[in-house]
Amino acid sequence: MLDLTGQVALVSGGSRGIGAAICRALAARGAKVAVNYRSSEAAATSLCREIEAAGGVAQPFVGDVGDSAQVTQLVAAVAHTWGPINVLVHNAGLQHSAMAHRMSDQQWRESLAVNLDAAFYLARAVLPAMRAAEAGVVVFIASASGSIAQAGAAGYVAAKHGLIGLTKALALESAAKGIRVNAVSPGLTDTDMVADLSPDQRAGLLGMIPLRRIASPDEVAATVDWVVRGATYTTGNVFHVGGGVAMG
Ligand code: NAP
Repeated sequence: MLDLTGQVALVSGGSRGIGAAICRALAARGAKVAVNYRSSEAAATSLCREIEAAGGVAQPFVGDVGDSAQVTQLVAAVAHTWGPINVLVHNAGLQHSAMAHRMSDQQWRESLAVNLDAAFYLARAVLPAMRAAEAGVVVFIASASGSIAQAGAAGYVAAKHGLIGLTKALALESAAKGIRVNAVSPGLTDTDMVADLSPDQRAGLLGMIPLRRIASPDEVAATVDWVVRGATYTTGNVFHVGGGVAMG
């Protein structure tokens, strides 16, 4: 098991949903957790207070991770506060629901920027220090939609498929330096992202899940915790947390 005591972890989109559960899990293992958010400052601040009340260390860091310049500033701000980042979790994501023939340039661009470009910007910013230290862990939060198609979210599906390709490319480039790069792919998980589903949509999705239930954010975070600390002989892998969805 990797000891996270005093290690610096950056979680993009850590203010809500799956990201917040990952922040809680890593802080409980002793990591200093940089909770990134774009707009939900109150949620990020409240989460950091909760982690501190439980004896952990966490601080909110603002930044749109789909913007290269803001990622440079974000990573520099975390390093200035605590030192180089040892664990990167790119969790921030968003899904625009529209059929491709009705999808706007802005919806397509934002889907690619937050779900895929951000992973590259963040990894590029943290890898030099990890390579110098010959240690580090990167986890990208992908999706079942990174392995199987889903109608009505072409930008999201394309970005998550690309994210899995980026996982493998970075894993290959980084392995000789002792850095592990893996993806965790949630299926339907109970967060704001899926709160607007109609009862019919929800029932339809549940019908496709062999375990027949939605996941909790904590169930995804538990797998991320294991990939970060326990899965020390894995890199370039995709770990599905989807109740059996996308099992091939
Ligand atoms: P969520 O509840 O909607 O939370 C999204 C998080 O991402 C928020 O903290 C949000 O912060 C942040 N974020 C969005 N755009 C950002 C940006 N440009 N820069 C920085 N932060 C940004 O989503 P979730 O369900 O927890 O999803 C987390 C990850 O799991 C995503 O990558 C998603 O694709 C993946 N996933 C989710 C499900 C599911 O069913 N929920 C299924 C498969 C995969 P602000 O509020 O500050 O914008």
